[in-house]
Amino acid sequence: MAKNVNTDVLIIGAGASGLTAAIFAAEKGASVVVVEHGPKAAKKILLTGNGRCNLSNTTFERGVYRGADPAFAHRVLEGFTPDDTLDFFHESGILTTVEQGRVYPSTFEGNLVSEVLIKRLDESGAGLFLNAGIYDLHKSDAGFLATIESEDESGKNKFKVNSKTLILACGGASYPKTGSDGSGYNMAKSFGHRLNPVFPALCHLVSKEDYPQSLHGVRAISRVSLFIDGSKSATEVGEVQFTKKGISGVPVLSLSRFASKALSEGGKVELSVDFAADMDEKKLRDELSRRKNSFPSRSAGDLLSGIVHRKTAVLICRLCRVKPSDRCSSVKDGILSKMTDCVKNFRMEIIGTSPLEEAQCTAGGIDVSDVNPSDMQSILCPGLFFAGEMLDVDGTCGGYNLQFAWSSGALAGMAAANISRKDNS
Ligand SMILES: Cc1cc2nc3c(=O)[nH]c(=O)nc-3n(C[C@H](O)[C@H](O)[C@H](O)COP(=O)(O)OP(=O)(O)OC[C@H]3O[C@@H](n4cnc5c(N)ncnc54)[C@H](O)[C@@H]3O)c2cc1C
Repeated sequence: MAKNVNTDVLIIGAGASGLTAAIFAAEKGASVVVVEHGPKAAKKILLTGNGRCNLSNTTFERGVYRGADPAFAHRVLEGFTPDDTLDFFHESGILTTVEQGRVYPSTFEGNLVSEVLIKRLDESGAGLFLNAGIYDLHKSDAGFLATIESEDESGKNKFKVNSKTLILACGGASYPKTGSDGSGYNMAKSFGHRLNPVFPALCHLVSKEDYPQSLHGVRAISRVSLFIDGSKSATEVGEVQFTKKGISGVPVLSLSRFASKALSEGGKVELSVDFAADMDEKKLRDELSRRKNSFPSRSAGDLLSGIVHRKTAVLICRLCRVKPSDRCSSVKDGILSKMTDCVKNFRMEIIGTSPLEEAQCTAGGIDVSDVNPSDMQSILCPGLFFAGEMLDVDGTCGGYNLQFAWSSGALAGMAAANISRKDNS
């Protein structure tokens, strides 16, 4: 049964950022208590990278982080760099490998990452309370006072934690079944912090048209452009995947936060898919003419064969009001131009996204203008620190969100330990 506890650092949330913060604080000599309301630590890490845990990347160009102030994330990564992160994992016993710039554990076992973090937390001497709810949390003379109710084999148990510093590492609001249910936002607000509107990022897009349904399961390397109120706002290249309700795949996930934001603001959102990004319009149009003239007895569907997936060819014929089985010699030149346009500029109106519950990341969150990126300390409330996805920072696909969690967690942990050590001396 836990008694009331006095500690240097109290961390709420045992996900990627909270565990990192705890390890760095405890290894600097601070006493650390981590409070996690779920039954397990690091639950979300197990889902990452399709179970392979894409934990970082080799390139960090501008644009990979989004939010009200995308430069904030880059400043955080300057304080604890991706190289520092790899050193930390290598030293902890996780070797890494790089696949197209994405960093994974070398055995591609994502569960190793959470297992090793939990082992290192244990070795650091930090205390971890699972199934622990927070009933009250406020500033006190000595720092912060939290009332916790936790549950273990001996039953339910209520106790108070008196801490010199507090790190909020509660995650965002996406995938709440992993524990990140948005409840951390209210704690931050109670210390005067502002919450920017939250919405899904890294999610599927839902189309107004029902015809993409006929492409369900089709994958295609494409160039995808997002149009908001008629203006092109961003372009990504990669493998798209059609779903029952619309479209997904890495380039779509990367664009989704802009679509999601525009939809929440009432904007008109359209997607243009270029299925033949390596051929310009003229080259494609000429190729269709050549096929028509060289193989007049082939079908209209054959005109597009090898350029787009068979199911896509059938759909494009339908959209151009041509029967795929018609002889291609009967396809008029105007229709060839229309087919070219469909291949190069396959338009879909986007009317929704998959819900926050299914999004890989939360866009929006606690406003970063009130947080110091060099140590993650609150500018409004000294001794309070933030780490991870609960801040208004979202990264694109490729290991950027976990990298932000590791960097912000390490900086917050080290800085909180430094403050408490000064207090102790
Ligand atoms: C399916 C999926 C795949 C992903 N794949 C990748 C990937 O390959 N690469 C990548 O970089 N990112 C990926 N992400 C995103 C990445 O997992 C998150 O950005 C990262 O885990 C955020 O870490 P965090 O510590 O901020 O939050 P979380 O990992 O969400 O941890 C927050 C913790 O706080 C706890 N908590 C919340 N509120 C309270 C409370 N009130 N009291 C006590 N405890 C609380 C939660 O239970 C949770 O354990 C993926 C996400 C999903 C859902």
